[in-house]
Amino acid sequence: MNALLLSPHLIGTNILIASAIICLALWYYSRPHPGPGLWTCGVLLVTVGQYLAQGTAYTASLPYNVLCHSLLTAGETVLVIGVFRFLGRPTPWWLIPVTFLAAAPWWLWHWLVQPLEAGDVVALYAFLSAFVRGMACHALLRLPGDRRLHSARLFAALMFGLLALSAAGSGVLGLFEGLSQSQGRQDVEPAAEMLAYNVGYPLWILCLFGLTLLSLRRFLLAAQSSAARFERLMNITSAAVVIVRDGRIVDANPVLKHLFGCPREFLYERPLEDLFETDEDLQKQLGRCDGVALDRVAVRCDGSRFAAELTLAALDDGTQVAEIRDVSGRKSLEQELRQTAARDALTGVLNRRAFIEQAQLELAQVRLQGRPACLAMFDIDHFKRVNDTHGHLVGDQALKAFSAVCESHVRRTDLFARYGGEEFVLLLPQTDREQALALLERLRETWSQHRLPVPGGELASTVSIGMVQLDGEASLEHWVSLADQALYRAKHEGRNRTRVHASE
Ligand code: GH3
Ligand code: MG
Ligand code: MG
Repeated sequence: MNALLLSPHLIGTNILIASAIICLALWYYSRPHPGPGLWTCGVLLVTVGQYLAQGTAYTASLPYNVLCHSLLTAGETVLVIGVFRFLGRPTPWWLIPVTFLAAAPWWLWHWLVQPLEAGDVVALYAFLSAFVRGMACHALLRLPGDRRLHSARLFAALMFGLLALSAAGSGVLGLFEGLSQSQGRQDVEPAAEMLAYNVGYPLWILCLFGLTLLSLRRFLLAAQSSAARFERLMNITSAAVVIVRDGRIVDANPVLKHLFGCPREFLYERPLEDLFETDEDLQKQLGRCDGVALDRVAVRCDGSRFAAELTLAALDDGTQVAEIRDVSGRKSLEQELRQTAARDALTGVLNRRAFIEQAQLELAQVRLQGRPACLAMFDIDHFKRVNDTHGHLVGDQALKAFSAVCESHVRRTDLFARYGGEEFVLLLPQTDREQALALLERLRETWSQHRLPVPGGELASTVSIGMVQLDGEASLEHWVSLADQALYRAKHEGRNRTRVHASE
C-alpha cells in the first residue's frame, strides 16, 4: 500500500488528471470563441493511456504495453494537431497515421526476427513522442501566425522543445535497458521511466501552461481589437452615443461634447432627461427603450436648443444606450422643402394643393367658431389677349404683378392662392360679406389702375371676381363652385366687376 501511495506513477496519473481538468475548464470557459478543443481531447487521451499504463511498462504483456503507449502517443499527436489549428495552419491529420505506422517496422521485427524487450517498447514510443513534441516546437517557432503572440509562442515552443529532448533521453535510456534485458539482466533500473516522471511531467505542465498562455493572450488581443474597433466606430459616427444606467449618463463617445458644448465628464452622472426639453411624454419615452427614433428638442450646456433625434435601446447588462443625433439641418431642409412644395413656382403665392389643405383646416375652424368667412375667385379678364399681344413673358409678369397686388391687400390670416392659369382664390376668415366686398372692390380697383411696363408702353388689365359668404355646413368644393358661379356672372355682365353668389 505504501509503495502505491509513494509511487511516482500515481503522482504522474494524478498530475495528468489535473491537467485534463484544466484543459476541459479552459475549453469550456473559452466558449463561444473557438477554444482549445483538440488540446483537451489530446490531454484526455494521454490521461487514459497513462492511467492504463501506470507502471506496467516493464511487467505487463506486450499487447497491453502497445495499447497504453499508442494511447499516449495518439493523445500527444492530437494535441500537436491542435497547435497547428491554433496557429491557423492547415491541419496535419497525416500525423496520426504516420505516428501509428512509424511503429510498424518495430513490430514486424518483433514478430518476424526477434521479440522486443520492455525497454525497447518504452524506447520506441519515447522516440515517437519526441518526434511529435518536436513537431509542436517547430510549429510554434517557425510557422507564420499572429505576430502579437510571438513571446507566448516562444515560451510554449521552448517547453515543447525541452519536452521533446526529455522524451528523446527516455528513448536512449529505454534502448539501453532493452539491450541489457536482451542480455539476460532482469535487474535493470527503469531509468527511462524515471526520466519521464522527474523531468517529463514538470515540462508537460509547463507546456500546458504555455498553451493556456497562448489561448488567454489571443482572447485578450481579440478583446483589445474589438474594443479598439468599437472606439473607432464611436469616433466616426456623427451621433452622440451615451450609456445610461438607472437613468443617468455613465459613459459617452466624444460626439457628446461636440453636440452639447461641454466636456463629457461634466455630463456624467447627470440624468439623461437633462439633455432635452422636458414635457410629460419624455419620461414615458425614456422608459420604453424600443429602438424607435423620437423627435426631441435638445438643450445644449449654454441653454441653446437644437432639433434632435433620440433612439434608446436596452443592453444586456441592464444599461441602456441612447443615440442622440443633431437633425436641425435636416429639419430646416424639410421645412424649406415643405414651403417650396406649398408655393406656386411663378408667383410665389400658395399653390392650389396647399390652399386646399390649409383651407380645409380653416373651414373646420369656421364651422367650430361659427364666425363669418368669405371665399372669392379671381379671373383676369381677356388674359389670352395679353399673351397674344405681348407674349407669354409679359403674361407671366402680369400674373406676378397681380399676385403681388393681392398679397399686399390681404391679411396674414387670409389664404391667397393661385388656383390655376390666371385664376386665383382668396379665403377670408373672420370676415363678413360687407368687409369682404369692400376689400375685393379695393383690390379690383387697384388692379385696374395698375400699369405694367411693356416694350413700347404700358399694360392695363382688369379682373372679374366672384364671391360667396360661408354660412353653412358645406364642403370647400361646394363654396368654390358657388364663388365660380358668381365669377361667371361677373364675366357675363361685362367683366371688371365683383359679384356675390345669387343666394346672398
Ligand atoms: P376671360 O376674360 O373670359 O377670362 O378671357 P381669357 O382670355 O382670360 O380666357 P381664358 O381664361 O380661357 O384664358 C386664360 C389664358 O391664360 C390661357 C392661357 O394661355 C393663359 N395662361 C394660363 N396660365 C398662364 C401662365 O402661367 N402664363 C401665361 N403667360 N399665360 C397663362
Ligand atoms: Mg380663366
Ligand atoms: Mg381670364
